[in-house]
Amino acid sequence: MAKETAKELKERLLSKKKNAILRMDDSEVKECDKFCEGYKRFLDVAKTEREAAAEIVRMAKAHGFVEFSAKNRYKAGDKVYSLNREKSVILAVIGKQPIENGVNLVAAHIDSPRLDMKQNPVYEKDEVAYFKTHYYGGIKKYQWPTVPLSLHGVVIRADGSKVTVNIGEDENDPVFCVSDLLPHLADSQYKRPSNQLIKGEELNIMIGSRPFRDDEGSDLVKLNIMLILNEKYGIVEDDLISAELEAVPAFKAKDVGFDRSLVGAYGQDDRVCAYTELMAVLGLKDPDRTAVAILTDKEETGSDGNTGLRSAYLRYFIADLASTFGVKGRDVLRKSRCLSADVNAAFDPTFPDVFEKRNSALLNGGVCVTKYTGSRGKSGTSDASAEFVGEVRRLLDANGVIWQTGELGKVDIGGGGTVAAYIANLDVDTIDVGVPVISMHAPFEITAKADVWAAFRAFEAFVNN
Ligand code: MN
Ligand code: MN
Repeated sequence: MAKETAKELKERLLSKKKNAILRMDDSEVKECDKFCEGYKRFLDVAKTEREAAAEIVRMAKAHGFVEFSAKNRYKAGDKVYSLNREKSVILAVIGKQPIENGVNLVAAHIDSPRLDMKQNPVYEKDEVAYFKTHYYGGIKKYQWPTVPLSLHGVVIRADGSKVTVNIGEDENDPVFCVSDLLPHLADSQYKRPSNQLIKGEELNIMIGSRPFRDDEGSDLVKLNIMLILNEKYGIVEDDLISAELEAVPAFKAKDVGFDRSLVGAYGQDDRVCAYTELMAVLGLKDPDRTAVAILTDKEETGSDGNTGLRSAYLRYFIADLASTFGVKGRDVLRKSRCLSADVNAAFDPTFPDVFEKRNSALLNGGVCVTKYTGSRGKSGTSDASAEFVGEVRRLLDANGVIWQTGELGKVDIGGGGTVAAYIANLDVDTIDVGVPVISMHAPFEITAKADVWAAFRAFEAFVNN
């Protein structure tokens, strides 16, 4: 046998990375771009966890999903959903295999970093009215002033009735804004440490400036705003104590670049994985194993609370679902596997120093498989087993999914976690799979359409397996 040349050996032995676009034919690129039109629409209508949950339930119902009840009996092909306190959703499509063989879980989060209103938010200072805010999730605070903001959420009135607020999204709506200093007067601001360039208590949202005209007294601008809120929503100041109002960037999702290859939008962490897993599960027809899609809240604050994945709601759902087949939840979980569908940092050519390029996800490199997350010595990770990584690798390759691997930056530079550990802690084989993002947690985050498409293809392959 002739000796192999170096070229032949390289071809056989060394790994190759190739831009996703060069691995897709024209019709697939077209399909990918079309898919991302639906994705952008979803981003625009689902800017908060409540709006995302409502939209997911609406889409699920349109695809034949009905509300889950532990009192019912289910058969292969049945589609159910369970809404947890209007902020988290679980969808399931019953498979042909017995449920004790385990389920295929995909889990994304639908909360994103934002500015929450405090409980006593309204005040007037020097004849300008403001909302006080408390930021939610890990934001670079200096990125949030001078960005047009919309206001979303609910207010519970004294009598218990609920008002839904969504203002700033319609083209004719007003928007809101946090101010910043002009550069001419920013000398001392520039001397602050950069994480205090804008302080938490400076994230005050301007909500008005015209005083009530028909009388005299103090705080007439605030009074005028409360009058407008009262006329529009039937609320008084004390009602804001029992409210969840969230300010998010008011702009819509857009194509980015002359070639329209990228999506720019608020909240792509993690609605990019939420949408792609949702579409994969909505498209399911008679799966072999039962598929369960989790769309959870509170990931950005550490997954605590009764709508986050550290709570028991997922475990209880699986137990209830198992009980309808006369099976124990823990017997289902033990045999289950999960793709924890969350974004990872995309290598940013402008800031290469924080990345170890060989182990970073690239834009247009496909969906990113992350064996472990965490920080320092893998603190806070679940670290998927080699066997499970091997299983996922075979699955993706067998289905022609374009994928890559990536860690979150260099060792000891920083780090981060996802919900993977909380699902793995339930005795489930779990691994992180998601879309690389540029400018993660900024008001305007960027993803590559080819990677969004690859994520959908990955989740589709997984739930159909
Ligand atoms: Mn995330
Ligand atoms: Mn995040």
